[in-house]
Amino acid sequence: MPALLRQLSSLGGCTHPIRLDGHRTEHHLNQDTGEIGRILRHLDSTELPAGHLLVRCNNRRITRCAACAETYRRDTFHLITAGLRGGKGTSEGVATHPRVFATFTAPSFGPVHNRLTGPAGTVRRCRCGIRHDEEDDALGTPLVPDRYDYESAVLWNAHAGLLWRRFSIYLRREVAKRAGLSQRALRNHARLSFAKVAEYQKRGAVHFHAVIRIDGPDGGDSPPPAWATVELLTDAISEATSKAQVAGPVIDGRAHAFAFGGQLDVRPIRGADFNGGQELTDRAVAAYIAKYATKGAETATGALDRPIRLIAEVAHLDISEHARRLVRTAWALGARKALEHLRLRAWAHML
Ligand SMILES: [Zn+2]
Ligand SMILES: [Zn+2]
Repeated sequence: MPALLRQLSSLGGCTHPIRLDGHRTEHHLNQDTGEIGRILRHLDSTELPAGHLLVRCNNRRITRCAACAETYRRDTFHLITAGLRGGKGTSEGVATHPRVFATFTAPSFGPVHNRLTGPAGTVRRCRCGIRHDEEDDALGTPLVPDRYDYESAVLWNAHAGLLWRRFSIYLRREVAKRAGLSQRALRNHARLSFAKVAEYQKRGAVHFHAVIRIDGPDGGDSPPPAWATVELLTDAISEATSKAQVAGPVIDGRAHAFAFGGQLDVRPIRGADFNGGQELTDRAVAAYIAKYATKGAETATGALDRPIRLIAEVAHLDISEHARRLVRTAWALGARKALEHLRLRAWAHML
């Protein structure tokens, strides 16, 4: 037992360790002659207490392995914190650089049940006539499922990453324009840094949260130019967001194109000392990003956290009808030759 405990304790609580079979032998190597000499260490998996070499699964999803996801969440938190207030090899000067926390939404694919709050915490009626409870499963699901644009919803998720890349190119262009520089010249004056995370809204559409920072030409260690302000950055982000577009496939004569939804939220990030209550602190932002880094599509799909092998499985899954339709739409579109590159069947569980 002590030997087994020792082996298990190295896993940090991982509940689904990977079992490796095999052996490893380390030899002494003569640096001068290149000759391989005596054995230094020998490890044979069958001789280990568990009968295998166990290594952490390192899955970052909470639903798959709580312990490994927690490690990932904590690492992400420290990484983002370092990017906001310095530390771990990043200059503390970054805390004074203009940085914002922006949320980019998906467009509408049809009206959904929602919970709108009015003044003094009053809850307004949804379009269906009900005042929904916060926990209501109906929230985020379509008012009229047959009229919801499932095809676009699924294709949006598949193109969101590409749209983000397009946005980041436009953002550099918009920042350069406001600084009176060419895009090429911008590199000698300033650099943009991004940390982004995808979150699934209840309706199953991906949206992005991102920390965006302006540095000097050498990144975090160099002070940004005087023209680089939070206002300039905010303005450039909103212009780049409205311009970014990605052409999608043509399906049965319908040409898809993707752009962000109208609801863009950009907020300046202040240092920890500047916590007036209203402002976003670097700590809150880091915690938020780290939280979503360990989540998949579960907000919309419950426990569906791995690829689907047979579409027949979907009928038996404990997920909402809305999620089921999204998965089925992805699966059906995935059969089309022209959409092969999107790998819609492999990603159907991610909607
Ligand atoms: Zn694990
Ligand atoms: Zn409703």
